[in-house]
Amino acid sequence: MTKQELQKQEVVKRLVLKFPKRFVDQPVIYHLTKDFDLMFNILKANIESDKEGFLVIELSGKEQNYRRGIEFLKKLGITVQQLDKDIKFDKTKCVSCGVCVPLCPVGAFKVDKETYEIGFDENKCIVCELCIKICPVKAIKVEF
Ligand code: SF4
Ligand code: SF4
Repeated sequence: MTKQELQKQEVVKRLVLKFPKRFVDQPVIYHLTKDFDLMFNILKANIESDKEGFLVIELSGKEQNYRRGIEFLKKLGITVQQLDKDIKFDKTKCVSCGVCVPLCPVGAFKVDKETYEIGFDENKCIVCELCIKICPVKAIKVEF
């Protein structure tokens, strides 16, 4: 296949975008559609006006447009991380030590105020993998 044919191929990628505070209320994703003809599907979002924002999106379109769109995001100072894995939490192993709760940058772990058990919200998780390294009983793992 020639380079030109490769560039015209359709790609579908899942990405985590980390926005600095100054971009949280900017229509950055809109430009991916308007300027680079890319389709997007927002899978998870964690955006507060005075903090860094996280967005998990599925992006699809022509390979060359995808590359140009990613360059556009990076030039703006947005961190782009490809997402090809998921975090799995095994409640049966968890000993509710609570170490992962303050560590998680998006608050995906919560302590139940009555039972003190740990709950995990996979919709918030951005797969940064910080919690995997810290859990003493390996109750959290990454799946590809
Ligand atoms: S991988 Fe762990 S620390 Fe990172 S966002 Fe997901 S739950 Fe939070
Ligand atoms: S660090 Fe591991 S054992 Fe401790 S609360 Fe989190 S998941 Fe449970």
